[in-house]
Amino acid sequence: MKIICIGRNYAAHARELNNPVPKRPVIFMKPPSALLVNNKPMYYPDFTKDLHYECEVVLKIKKNGRHVQPEHASGYYEEITLGIDFTARDLQSELKEKGHPWELAKGFDGSAAVGKFIPKSEIEGDSIRFDLMKNKEIVQSGNTTDLLFPFDDLIVFVSKFFKLQMGDLIFTGTPAGVGPVKIGDQLEGIIQTNSGAQKVLRCQIR
Ligand code: ZN
Repeated sequence: MKIICIGRNYAAHARELNNPVPKRPVIFMKPPSALLVNNKPMYYPDFTKDLHYECEVVLKIKKNGRHVQPEHASGYYEEITLGIDFTARDLQSELKEKGHPWELAKGFDGSAAVGKFIPKSEIEGDSIRFDLMKNKEIVQSGNTTDLLFPFDDLIVFVSKFFKLQMGDLIFTGTPAGVGPVKIGDQLEGIIQTNSGAQKVLRCQIR
């Protein structure tokens, strides 16, 4: 499986890091070894002094496909959850400055925390509201109606370059409000569903 990530997919987040709003999706990948599941803790890596959270809606790809047409795109994912795209921001800034790839700053072990999947049918319409809490305080709030490239557009775009395979994950981008974590912090991701708020993700920094 592969983990496909979208950068700068919310205009307000692109601006907070002084990046231009992109004309096509910004794509990067994390290796399967980045995956962190079952609410396991994240161990603060020793190569960064500025580990950041980025809370994102994650799609699970349910069937294989290449060159997916827009009218079929929504059939490629049925389950969603929240994830945290952990980022070594200091290292990423250094790599960006040099024009180098971001993998060291974003693809390290445990950098893709993924919550419990829920059927997308538990959310009515296209508006998915979600929050990230750090130590019981809301630090990020997102609504997928603010996505520059909605889910279906991402499926169409990504599948032109990479064959989508069952079990692949797509991190769909983070809203504004990214910030640092320190050892001991507790992160919790909450999605608003038809039956109320669901805590789908928990991750402690150790
Ligand atoms: Zn991200």
